[in-house]
Amino acid sequence: MTPQREALARQDAPFLAMGLVPGDPRSFEAHLRHAARLMGERQISGSPSARLVRHVAGLFESSVPAAAQAGLACRSGCAFCCHQPVKVNAAEAFFLAGQVREQPDRAAAVRQAAAQLAGRDAEMPRARWLRCPLLDSADACSAHSARPLSCHGYVSLDVEDCKKSYPQTGEWSVREPAIYGDLRNSWRLILQAALRLNGLSDTNYELNAALALALDTDEAEKRWLRGENIFARLKPLAPNKPEIEQVLALIAARIGPTL
Ligand code: SF4
Repeated sequence: MTPQREALARQDAPFLAMGLVPGDPRSFEAHLRHAARLMGERQISGSPSARLVRHVAGLFESSVPAAAQAGLACRSGCAFCCHQPVKVNAAEAFFLAGQVREQPDRAAAVRQAAAQLAGRDAEMPRARWLRCPLLDSADACSAHSARPLSCHGYVSLDVEDCKKSYPQTGEWSVREPAIYGDLRNSWRLILQAALRLNGLSDTNYELNAALALALDTDEAEKRWLRGENIFARLKPLAPNKPEIEQVLALIAARIGPTL
């Protein structure tokens, strides 16, 4: 390791020992460097996507203060928010596919949902959507530990908000602790930047469509890591806003040379 890298590792160590500190660029950079390296470690066996997404999801969960978590109305078996379109990128789809593949009935339900939803616009405001095929009979997520990052971020302070909002089309409002918005922005940037810093796509797709492809494509992740766009036949969800692209470009210029 070069002296510069050693100095950087010393600088990052205390930040990596704790969750993400909102508003602290040193914390953000330390966690992003770590996430980008996890995705770049191809010589280690196992799925780089699983390593990255598991790490970023864990970072998100460990960064939410206990007081904010304690105030949530969210409980296992409460699934109002699991009736809406969910976005995933390729890494999230591969991680989830690893777990869903072990449950053939669930995988079949995902394929069926993907076929049913073909041609539907997942970005129509408050689109009426299917019950997520990953919900079990007790309305719990059957892939909870590998669920997409968006699902980690859907929280509510009051179940009445969810009852009124999620099954409906039109106006809705679900209150959440303010810190969730900041953390979601930071963690999504870390996930996107970690992929881009490794020359990989961070395009988002509708969950069922991407998951069905990840399940049914031979060597899906390996081929995608080699640069093959196995999702080419899916319609990508909306690209980033220009201001997010600017931030990602700045991040790439600053963090790329330090990896
Ligand atoms: S993946 Fe799990 S948490 Fe996310 S919408 Fe589906 S059932 Fe709900």
